Amino acid sequence: MIRMFKSWGQKKLHIGIDLDNTVLDATSSYLHFYNKASGLSYSSKDVTDFYFYRLYGWNNTEREKVYHQYGRDIHWNSSPFPHAIEVLQELSLSHQISIITARPLLFRDVTIDWLKHHGVRYDNIAFTENKLQECIDSEVSVLVDDAPHYAKEFADKNIPVILFEQPYNTSVKIDTVYRASNWLEVRSRISALQVSLR
Ligand SMILES: [Mg+2]
Repeated sequence: MIRMFKSWGQKKLHIGIDLDNTVLDATSSYLHFYNKASGLSYSSKDVTDFYFYRLYGWNNTEREKVYHQYGRDIHWNSSPFPHAIEVLQELSLSHQISIITARPLLFRDVTIDWLKHHGVRYDNIAFTENKLQECIDSEVSVLVDDAPHYAKEFADKNIPVILFEQPYNTSVKIDTVYRASNWLEVRSRISALQVSLR
């Protein structure tokens, strides 16, 4: 099932886009500041779990404390993945783009500043952990995300997901979950979805 953006005409699909580890390399930035906070020295090679703060032996409360202290720096210093910005710019010309992030509202300003700084064009932005409901409410046609749990939830509702490849999502294998290991592949997959509408 692919839903079309209501005002059919110029904009063809409504694309939901995650930020962390989809548009930008959050892992490296998190590791840098988590290492600083803990005195440990993990690298991206050590990350095999979506909740990689567990490497540090923290529980969720301890993680939140560190995240609240360093979150602004973590988010500001994350680098875009290769081709992410140019592909998003191109997609925004013909599609409706909604940024859908599970970051807390506490980091809304740094998120919007980062998007502006890197020249990301988008139509809407939502801060929510309930991405499925957000996408249903706003009639998103396809979500681009790295998180295994969202991929499974969306697959259950037959909403296509382009799963941005990360070490912790390689085991997800579902028909309506397409994989992309870079932004050129995201672009191809979106073109294919657009064609499959006709
Ligand atoms: Mg993510």
